Amino acid sequence: MVNTRTALIAGNWKMNLDHLQAIAFVQKLAWALDDAKHDYAAVEVAVFPPFTDLRSVQTLISADKLKVAFGAQDVSAQESGAYTGEISAAFLAKLDAQYVIIGHSERRTLHNETDEVVAAKTAAALKHKLVPVICVGETAEDLEKHGPSAVPVAQLEVALGQVSADSEIVVAYEPVWAIGSGQAATPEQAEQVCAALRSTLREKLGDAIADRTRILYGGSVKSSNIAGFMREPNVDGALVGGASLDVNEFAGIARFPQHVGL
Ligand code: PEP
Repeated sequence: MVNTRTALIAGNWKMNLDHLQAIAFVQKLAWALDDAKHDYAAVEVAVFPPFTDLRSVQTLISADKLKVAFGAQDVSAQESGAYTGEISAAFLAKLDAQYVIIGHSERRTLHNETDEVVAAKTAAALKHKLVPVICVGETAEDLEKHGPSAVPVAQLEVALGQVSADSEIVVAYEPVWAIGSGQAATPEQAEQVCAALRSTLREKLGDAIADRTRILYGGSVKSSNIAGFMREPNVDGALVGGASLDVNEFAGIARFPQHVGL
């Protein structure tokens, strides 16, 4: 079957850039992409700022009719109530956020998020029509012990617990050993795991969702290595951390079709 999935280049800012810096960044990003005649229908570009920036980013995108999408870096599994410090999916939906990252390895390790928490957050996001970007990935130790796809596949199986065949989701394969290390996976390694994740979607939820779901690779992606990943049939984009904080570098990643001749 022909791949009709729109590529997605997503920038996870983590705890960087305040709301004023966010406004300047998104403006510059849109200018850089417009200057390069970026085809947003071919490559969608999304940013994931900290919660405190979201309202400013939303206002800018809406006022200037920018084509850049945005999302949050986390969401509560709860609907509302006595959960100090948490942000609900309903609040994010009200801000017109399209996406939310769920289960990033930093949340799994630093905030003890289990696969079950990831599944509950995914369900909360879907309930409010946010597209969850479900992150999975193995540590270096997992890789040695269990091989490349066992852990990411097991994580995805649990995360899909309350996902239905008509849901829109994005899956991000992010080997923990590649995040922020400068040591990206090879395109072949990424393809192997992304293909296994697509098979998991197919087995659990059917052909339609497996064929339309975008599966991203993340881990030390830069403008100089994105081309190799995007040539792989099961890699539909990238989740970018460090390199998403440099406007020109991030725009360069989003413009990969121009430098790979795709
Ligand atoms: C990430 O944290 O999601 C990530 C992929 O980071 P980096 O691109 O810096 O490796």
